[in-house]
Amino acid sequence: MAYLTVPITAKTVEQSKQQISSAANLGADMVELRLDYIEGLNQEIVKILIDHSKESKMKTIATCRRSQEGGVIDYPRQFRIQILAFAAQSGADYIDCELATYKTAAAKKSINAVLKNTKAKLILSVHDFKKPITNLQEIYDSILLTCPVAIPKIAYFAKNINDCFAGFDLLHTKETDLILIAMGQDGLITRLLANKLDSLVCFASLDNQTSTAPGQITVSQMRDLFRFEAQNEQTELFGVIGNPIEHSLSPLLHNTLFRQMNMNKLYLPILLKGDQLEFDTFMENVTTRQWLNFRGFSVTIPHKVNALDYVSKIGGFIDDQAAKIDAVNTLVIGYNERVNAYNTDYEGAIDALVLGMNINRKQLEHKKVAVLGAGGVSRAVVAGLTDVGARVTIYNRTAIKAKRLANEFKCQYADISEIGSESADILVNCTSVGMYPKIDQIPVSQDIIYPDMTVFDTVYNPKETKLLATAKEKGAIVINGLEMFINQAIEQFRHFTGKNADRNVVKKIFEEKF
Ligand code: NAP
Repeated sequence: MAYLTVPITAKTVEQSKQQISSAANLGADMVELRLDYIEGLNQEIVKILIDHSKESKMKTIATCRRSQEGGVIDYPRQFRIQILAFAAQSGADYIDCELATYKTAAAKKSINAVLKNTKAKLILSVHDFKKPITNLQEIYDSILLTCPVAIPKIAYFAKNINDCFAGFDLLHTKETDLILIAMGQDGLITRLLANKLDSLVCFASLDNQTSTAPGQITVSQMRDLFRFEAQNEQTELFGVIGNPIEHSLSPLLHNTLFRQMNMNKLYLPILLKGDQLEFDTFMENVTTRQWLNFRGFSVTIPHKVNALDYVSKIGGFIDDQAAKIDAVNTLVIGYNERVNAYNTDYEGAIDALVLGMNINRKQLEHKKVAVLGAGGVSRAVVAGLTDVGARVTIYNRTAIKAKRLANEFKCQYADISEIGSESADILVNCTSVGMYPKIDQIPVSQDIIYPDMTVFDTVYNPKETKLLATAKEKGAIVINGLEMFINQAIEQFRHFTGKNADRNVVKKIFEEKF
């Protein structure tokens, strides 16, 4: 069980007390008193802050970092040691001293003396703010060799998500309490999984202004979005793999559904930088560690084709639609560890269209459809439309890409500038034009939109794009990208859990967010 811990980073006593009270109000378990942030630090201040933490029913870690390991005010070593010893005497639950500082004879003597006479426990820490630490086990062993009763804390900077797995291995095999953090955006999942993997502490900030390390998220996000309290060893893991990933709505959607449906599951944002090699390495890292209990992934830009190639290589199952579209947006890891690949964009898009037009799939046959764009979403839409017998023309800025896609799916193509000579029954925008933040853009001239047309924009942020607003004004039927996004997400949820998500609940989650 990890303690959800807020670093207190104020310069003054009063501000520090306010931060401690706020941490308590947000439901944190512990505060880390970063005494190196406090100007004019003295023993009296330490006592006031520890007393205030206790009154606020918070456990405490007291630390006064040396500048080489992130300390803010460069207090002299002897002073820092005295402060830590005094914090232990004043009732701090933990004192955190850097291994390098503790190794000096003076520190060892003072700290060991107070450990004997107080209830405080000693954390010995090692930080690398620039790069991953490759010999984690060696460092862990050397901390315990230096002081067998110490709690090792190792924090390193992850440059790629694959740097997290050595940390997970150490958490899995540890024989003592351990605090393990991979800092930076690429290390985020070590923070999100702290409770499941039994790191002693999960650091989270009060807000985005008071974080003490790159990649730290807020207490509210940890508790509300990432199900901190609900995690345990058995929690099954899911996530969205992509780059960038921070704006994905999938963690909000799936974690809300898991909570509402009382499922012991957690969904993570998985920033995966790099290409096929890093993708394959990530999947190998996941599938060779069954104890992590990863069960499935949504896959987004730029990894949809990497996912397909990976599953082909390992001889996993690829469903017909994913094979046809040549891209995968859903991976499920079966209990036999077989990896199954699906694409839910196809169904999501066609369902949005027929629902919006209030027709059935059969009625799409022979409809004249202009599809704008020839990227990943366009592939899924064109595959779906040609399957139901619609007459599709693909228009793209780069005509050669439209030609390739049209040849594959046996339909027409043209340069996007040529659109307009013939009217279509349905116009589908599969380009990114009009997407946030460039919401004033429209992919085609409004002159080609007619009142009896259906206009479907797959862009879902904003919900009403300029294209849709224009089409609505002209009296056309309009369908927004959120409908498709919701459909494909519901289908993914079914693949992940075998259960149906309530469409109205899903819609509400997104509508509240937007
Ligand atoms: P993609 O593979 O990168 O394709 C982007 C397409 O947009 C290409 O055809 C590209 O043309 C075209 N394009 C980009 N900028 C353009 C511009 N300034 N003018 C004209 N054409 C332009 O991306 P994708 O995965 O297909 O995603 C496309 C959009 O679909 C996303 O932006 C997102 O809003 C939406 N989407 C919706 C859902 C949903 O569930 N509703 C899911 C995923 C994505 P070139 O070939 O000439 O570069």
